[in-house]
Amino acid sequence: MCLLEDPLLDALQRHFGWAAFREGQRPVVEALLEGRDCLAVLPTGAGKSLCYQLPALVREGLTVVVSPLVALMQDQVRQLQRRRIAAACLHRGVPNEDVRALRRALQERRLRLLYLAPERLQMESTRQLLEDCLQSGSLVALAVDEAHCISAWGHDFRPDYRRLGALRGFFPGVPLVALSATAPPQVRADIIRLLSLRQPLVQVRSARRLNLSYAMRRRPPEPLDEVLDAIAQARGAVLIYARTRRSVEEWTIRLREAAVEAIAYHAGMESNSRQLALEHFQTHPRPVLVATVAFGMGVDRGDVGLVLHLQLPASPEGYLQESGRAGRDGQPARCVVLFDPADRQRLGWAIRASTSADASLSWSAPEAERMALAQRQLRRMEAIAEGEGCREQALLRAVGEVVGACGRCDICAGQRSAKDWSDQAVLLLEALQEHKGQPLQSLADQLASKHGGQSDQWSWLSRRLVQEHLINESDDGVQRLWIRSSGLHFLRSPWPLPLQAGSSCAA
Ligand SMILES: [Zn+2]
Repeated sequence: MCLLEDPLLDALQRHFGWAAFREGQRPVVEALLEGRDCLAVLPTGAGKSLCYQLPALVREGLTVVVSPLVALMQDQVRQLQRRRIAAACLHRGVPNEDVRALRRALQERRLRLLYLAPERLQMESTRQLLEDCLQSGSLVALAVDEAHCISAWGHDFRPDYRRLGALRGFFPGVPLVALSATAPPQVRADIIRLLSLRQPLVQVRSARRLNLSYAMRRRPPEPLDEVLDAIAQARGAVLIYARTRRSVEEWTIRLREAAVEAIAYHAGMESNSRQLALEHFQTHPRPVLVATVAFGMGVDRGDVGLVLHLQLPASPEGYLQESGRAGRDGQPARCVVLFDPADRQRLGWAIRASTSADASLSWSAPEAERMALAQRQLRRMEAIAEGEGCREQALLRAVGEVVGACGRCDICAGQRSAKDWSDQAVLLLEALQEHKGQPLQSLADQLASKHGGQSDQWSWLSRRLVQEHLINESDDGVQRLWIRSSGLHFLRSPWPLPLQAGSSCAA
């Protein structure tokens, strides 16, 4: 078809320089232009933001985008401005004079994209501003980015997002699009219900990425060589994720000492240094960026050849998003996780701490439930990392997709032999029968001193028995263990337990 005969393709070419839509984009753009609500679940790298950007450009109107992170908004605005598209963001950190300029641009109908922090919608002045746009007929669409944040079932629930349910009521005639990279069926239903989407078009693309290969292994006590090897083998850009700001900085220094030109990025840095780091990442031919996981949302670099996590990710959903930042250009890319059982304890405690900070001293029922959910997600992620099945298959199962083994991950490609652990399982279950509710670590220490072997090996076996449903583990982050009735059954007549200790167990 000739470009000029297709106004949408024409606009795509003119504003973004692309000759074709990516899979899943066009139906969403068309639905919004027809005034229809949408739920778009498109994997990272599928070009979600284009779905709401293009309608504003085609209609020469305004799309308002609610986005959870200031850094994400700023990145998007900068990218649009580079393409000479009028965009701005409104959040707590915007100075007053910029807000005034923004108001003028809105009144003169010059702005195409306005990114809003969710709490801004609570402000009467913001609502008035949008009301004015609505009256003037310039409001083309509303978009809620990272829409899974509205669901308590999601991996990144944000109480601020709950208030977005009021959007539909404020702007009844404007189409609303909810977007997410990873929303399992339960979360999708939550999004549709909580945002009151009206007979939405539901556009879901598989989260499967055929060019990515996953590898997860136990982090050695000194992982530097392994990290350096992975960097040396990678093509294009490298993203290294560390959990805390401090470890981001430490690892940047370590890599620099090893002659890797690494750059740090985290939210605690000054905005100027953050900007420089971002520019370096986007322009350097082979940048190595060490960052906290928030980095990379909305960052536009196709040739990321390696995404390496230095700790266990917090949830399978989150990990799919983070690892999905690799290989957006469709070329082969690697996603590596180096983990240690202690990671889960640390993360578990961090979740506890953040939940109790939210709810002052005592936990309300929803808070407690949310914390338990976060602990379960963490446990599922650990089960995938320590598990014996295909990594991709297990990750996709966590977001409600059933696929065959990938043939590309470390498990599919390697061959690890299993050995029978039923004798040790009996010893462990007997100990637990005696000491109900014992924390995992003290149980492991006790078994090691009584029966030999390393405490590390016993704690690995405890976790595997949780995954085998012979033991229950508490959801409070303390990892207290209880024997289940299936465990008692196992004690009465044990069955073989072929487990692959492999790289998951130092023993
Ligand atoms: Zn596989």
